[in-house]
Amino acid sequence: MIYHGEFADALMPDLFIQTAPSLGNQYEEDAFLRGYLRRKLPSEMLTDIEQDLHGLGALAGGELYRCQRDDRLNEPRLTQWDGWGNRIDQIELTPLWKRAAEIAAQSGLIAIPYEAQHGRWSRVHQFAKVFLFHPSTDVYTCPLAMTDGAARTLSTAGNRALIERALPRLTSRDPETAWTSGQWMTEATGGSDVGASLTKAIFEEGEWRLYGKKWFTSAITSQMALTLARPEGNASGGSGLAMFYVETRNTDGSLNNIRVERLKDKLGTRKVPTAELYLDGTRATLVGESSQGTRAIEPMLVITRAWNSVTSVSFMRRAVALARAYAQERRAFGKPLIGLPLHAATLARLEAQTRAAFLLAFELVELIGLQESGQIDSDQKALLRLLTPISKLLTAKQAVSVVSEAIEAFGGAGYVEDTGIPMMLRDTQVLPIWEGTTNVLALDAVLRGDPEKGIQALERRIEQCVRELTHDALRSAGELAIAAVRKAKDWLSTSQDALQTQAAARDLAFTLGRALELALLIEHAQWQLGQERDSGGVAAVRLFMREPIDCLGQGSDFEDAIALMS
Ligand SMILES: Cc1cc2nc3c(=O)[nH]c(=O)nc-3n(C[C@H](O)[C@H](O)[C@H](O)COP(=O)(O)OP(=O)(O)OC[C@H]3O[C@@H](n4cnc5c(N)ncnc54)[C@H](O)[C@@H]3O)c2cc1C
Repeated sequence: MIYHGEFADALMPDLFIQTAPSLGNQYEEDAFLRGYLRRKLPSEMLTDIEQDLHGLGALAGGELYRCQRDDRLNEPRLTQWDGWGNRIDQIELTPLWKRAAEIAAQSGLIAIPYEAQHGRWSRVHQFAKVFLFHPSTDVYTCPLAMTDGAARTLSTAGNRALIERALPRLTSRDPETAWTSGQWMTEATGGSDVGASLTKAIFEEGEWRLYGKKWFTSAITSQMALTLARPEGNASGGSGLAMFYVETRNTDGSLNNIRVERLKDKLGTRKVPTAELYLDGTRATLVGESSQGTRAIEPMLVITRAWNSVTSVSFMRRAVALARAYAQERRAFGKPLIGLPLHAATLARLEAQTRAAFLLAFELVELIGLQESGQIDSDQKALLRLLTPISKLLTAKQAVSVVSEAIEAFGGAGYVEDTGIPMMLRDTQVLPIWEGTTNVLALDAVLRGDPEKGIQALERRIEQCVRELTHDALRSAGELAIAAVRKAKDWLSTSQDALQTQAAARDLAFTLGRALELALLIEHAQWQLGQERDSGGVAAVRLFMREPIDCLGQGSDFEDAIALMS
């Protein structure tokens, strides 16, 4: 017999609906961030800024997070023509991005280090806020990173007129007057090999005009950009390029001889309006010299790579926070997931990776703060040079791995779009690619500049972290970190074969980065033991060491590559 209606309802078992993971105040819920700030910042400064951090933590876990979920299906829209056939190339951003822009300006996410109220610690203040803000904004930090980079580049380039015009706008706390900036470097010929750029700069009737095509430009809604172009007659390669300042719109609101060809159809970062642009006589101002543009734009890259590092860790933090919240709600085999030893151990390893990556990213942030406040010594300068690429490449890779594992921690729900979780992995996947790919940065770290000086500075920093340890597990971990950095140093200084060194650059960079991450975890764990009577840091050290610190392999990667790939 088949039952219908009320009879059938009576036979149905109770339907189960899983409670979604929820987020609270992201500052208050992040004991590790708060511990780090207590350890590092002068106590009166922390008292001064804590209100601010509580406020942004509440927004990030509250209003912004709700707005992000409501905005899930929205994407920026490009309208190229109006009804009368005029080319307009207007881009409409999504509601989340509009709100994020207001909050970013009002919270001083760019302004803080330029106001420099807390001297060398102003960068830590700024990036603690970026860390809270980022994962609820669908990568609004992309234009912010470039804005900060442009502000820093212009202020160091010393072009008074441009500083006076652009800097107050880039660093404004008023959403009505705040500008953002793009960074237009990549062309179809190459993002890594920027020296191959084809865009020309021609001096016509007393001003520079640019002609060419920029292949990836992520902030075409910005009011300005810094870009590279080759003045007529200059040599080929990077040294023949010059850095130019461009305002995207004319005073009447029309585009400055720029055509937006299309928005890229991307795997992730879908709120970011990444465009292909034709520059067809775009008026531009030379920022400094009429050559050496790749060198001139380097200050921008230091800043954007620091943003990349902090946003990598911030995604890791969000993924682990959600996975942890879910593990408290979701039950299997009669227990909440968090009560299952293997699930808890899986999440704990993600937490350890996240803490290590956090400390590395903020080590870079601290060094930038020291440099900007004029307090940096020569060892720290060499370390800043080395850590800029290493922090970016390592934290980005860790983010992809941690976020991917965290998604599995939700089971099937992690794969279902309207939980909002899959998007995290797609957005994270860009972090190893833009601002320099892993390979390009590894080569930059171990082959360019003076890597030996940087590695010596790194070795001394590691020695400083592992001095005066009171716990056996920390002491033996410290020995491992020192052994790894010394092996990498010896490997590099005795390597005779340039091709083999190139092939091993990733392994060298990973070894240096992971050795420092381990040492920074040890330093923090020792502080926690002493000041907070907390042994959680020792557990993080042990779990972090489960994955290799010394990543240098046996044999010749280059010969193996030829054997397999040629
Ligand atoms: C979403 C998104 C937004 C972006 N926004 C911007 C933007 O706003 N402005 C901007 O200027 N650019 C932007 N980019 C471009 C980005 O910076 C480049 O894609 C990136 O630098 C790589 O350049 P490419 O795409 O030309 O790859 P290629 O340079 O062709 O690299 C291809 C592969 O070759 C490897 N490789 C290259 N050289 C070497 C080497 N010497 N040794 C070993 N391996 C090597 C790389 O690691 C990579 O795996 C954006 C990219 C994305 C995905």
